[in-house]
Amino acid sequence: MSVAVVKVAVPGPLAGPLDYRAPAFPPPVGARVQVPLGRRRVVGVVTGHAGESELPPDRLRAVETVLDETPLLDTELLALLRWGAQYYHHPLGDCIATALPRRLRQGAPATPGEERYWRLTEAGAAANVTALRARAPRQALLLAELQAAGVLRPAQLPGMGGDARGALERLASRGWAEVVQRRDYGLIEGDSEDPAPALNREQADAAAALAAATGFTALLLDGVTGSGKTEVYLDAIARCLAAGRQALVIVPEIGLTPQLLTRFRRRLRGRLAVLHSGLADGERLDAWLAAREGVADVIIGTRSAVFTPLARPGLIVVDEEHDASLKQQDGFRYSARDLAVIRAQRLDLPVVLGSATPSLESLANAGRGRYRHLHLGERAGGARPPRFGLLDVRGRPMQEGLSQPLLQRVREHLDHDGQVLLFLNRRGYAPTLLCHECGWMAECERCDARYTYHRGRARLHCHHCDREQPLPRHCPECGSVDLRPLGLGTERVEAALEAAFPETSLVRIDRDSTRRRGSFETRMEAVRRGEARLLLGTQMLAKGHHLPAVTLVGIIDADQGLFGADFRAPERLAQLIVQVAGRAGRAERPGEVLIQTHHPEHPLLQTLIHHGYPAFAQAALAERQAAGLPPERSLALLRAEAPGAAAPRAFLDAARNTAPATRVELLGPLPAPMERRAGRYRAQLMLQADARRDLHALLDVWLPRVAALPEARRVRWSIDVDPVET
Ligand code: ADP
Ligand code: ZN
Ligand code: ZN
Repeated sequence: MSVAVVKVAVPGPLAGPLDYRAPAFPPPVGARVQVPLGRRRVVGVVTGHAGESELPPDRLRAVETVLDETPLLDTELLALLRWGAQYYHHPLGDCIATALPRRLRQGAPATPGEERYWRLTEAGAAANVTALRARAPRQALLLAELQAAGVLRPAQLPGMGGDARGALERLASRGWAEVVQRRDYGLIEGDSEDPAPALNREQADAAAALAAATGFTALLLDGVTGSGKTEVYLDAIARCLAAGRQALVIVPEIGLTPQLLTRFRRRLRGRLAVLHSGLADGERLDAWLAAREGVADVIIGTRSAVFTPLARPGLIVVDEEHDASLKQQDGFRYSARDLAVIRAQRLDLPVVLGSATPSLESLANAGRGRYRHLHLGERAGGARPPRFGLLDVRGRPMQEGLSQPLLQRVREHLDHDGQVLLFLNRRGYAPTLLCHECGWMAECERCDARYTYHRGRARLHCHHCDREQPLPRHCPECGSVDLRPLGLGTERVEAALEAAFPETSLVRIDRDSTRRRGSFETRMEAVRRGEARLLLGTQMLAKGHHLPAVTLVGIIDADQGLFGADFRAPERLAQLIVQVAGRAGRAERPGEVLIQTHHPEHPLLQTLIHHGYPAFAQAALAERQAAGLPPERSLALLRAEAPGAAAPRAFLDAARNTAPATRVELLGPLPAPMERRAGRYRAQLMLQADARRDLHALLDVWLPRVAALPEARRVRWSIDVDPVET
């Protein structure tokens, strides 16, 4: 077949690849090309070749520029993206765009950044610095530096005074130094300085199961916090590197800390590439290319790292697999965990999903025998699990949300050299500002939500659309100046704790207090060194950090999560409590966890504190089964939003009416739990099916009809397969 036509996946809402006339030397599948699209010019990826097009010749436009001579996306990654496009019913071009670093999306060449530096030559090593000093003092200084260090990098030059670059060029022209230009991927060099600890029995069993896995095996590493899951990953990764293969490690955003990277660097011998949203575009590109070219041995990154091309893949790890941040919430709504499993299956590799609080989905998969279930029940190093207690606060006097018994225990722990962690999952001073005269409440104009009062910044801030307002001086309804904060946020509890424990150093950790780069780490460091004795924070505290000196954990308000609108709310709450509790305690001093609640009899809390997370999860799974919710049944949401309330309803009604009758159950349309957000009204139609297959069969025939509805043009709509927020 002569290739006259290339199929190009372009970014945007178009469902399938488009036909373009191929140049004389057609680009291979997986290469990027620049093509005209309407009046724009876009970067797309070649997904196929054809002898001819169904388009009439005069409508067939030509490829303008071929950006890659060789495929940028290999067959495996392209096939994974195709799979994802089909499963999540999202346009392939947009899936590909999600997978590519921005620079590549914009058409930049697929080459890493270069580093330029100066290196001493043999002649330079023999040259006489003293003789040079009189004639060219700056050159003499730099030559002496070079003779001592061997190389000089641009970053070192500012300290050398004057025109150091010029002086180096002159040294180079004398043949005493040479300019070196090399590709630099910005990798972290692992030095395996730290010896691996001897694994305990459970760890060794888990590690052996992993070592024995040849080909695709999915393992659920279900280990209490501090049980040494990371050691099991490290053991498997080291084995993988020794076999000359690459390991891909996916962690939630908040889990990717300098602490974790240091641990990996000091334990592994190999080059580490890091991928997360905080990278500059160039850094991201370099890390991506290093993985693709096989220069990096370990790729550690957040959600989108699941799409990193791998030259010699050997192992995939997903840490904190229950974490909601592994699911993308807009555009290509993929689950990095689920795609990691699919990718491992297609690559025929082992994949480990680790968590102290596994998702009900993964537990169900383990129950059905799809995942091998590995348990780590003991804390490594002999630390004992914390003791749980419920604090019934009904009818008790409270000081800014803190009951007397809790304050009392805080004092006792502090008096006994303990460290105390208090958890409240709400930042700001108070979630509401209320007029005491007339009852007016400060509400966001764009959302069905109240403004959060931030006292430090003296602002009202909507946590749903990010809108900010200066603090009103008086009530807009009645003019009263008696405006009062209602409810609790971390800022408010911080003030109360400072008043109650004026002598104790306190650190607050939430998104407001850690806005500056590195401040989260600085604060956690102060906690680890024991300088801060009282620690107060949001769910930022629940992940990734071991705080062995913490002896008391207080959950200030468990009631928030008990009655959430989302059917996953109890699961989330249980995971948060267990994760926060898991920060505490060590061998000689087991931790204590106190949970304040107005609902001490609640079955969820009872099961959780008396029987632990596994028992809770079994009960929650049984409930989901009875209610016909995931993971028992498969779920998808058709969402729609528009500036008015009518359009989303009309669209979803019309969509419902075009759906063929199948075994899939349609529920709704219903308003979204928060109907108006950022000035847009939102509604949704829920699809439920016993068999995933039926759901996908329906979506395949139905979505094209939905897209063609005239009502679809008046809304923004999307389909979310396996939603984590409903
Ligand atoms: P997890 O990932 O399950 O939360 P980690 O792997 O971070 O647990 O281990 C918790 C702590 O226990 C770490 O400080 C780690 O160095 C230590 N640790 C883990 N395994 C062992 C072991 N076999 N012997 C001694 N210390 C260990
Ligand atoms: Zn008022
Ligand atoms: Zn808002």
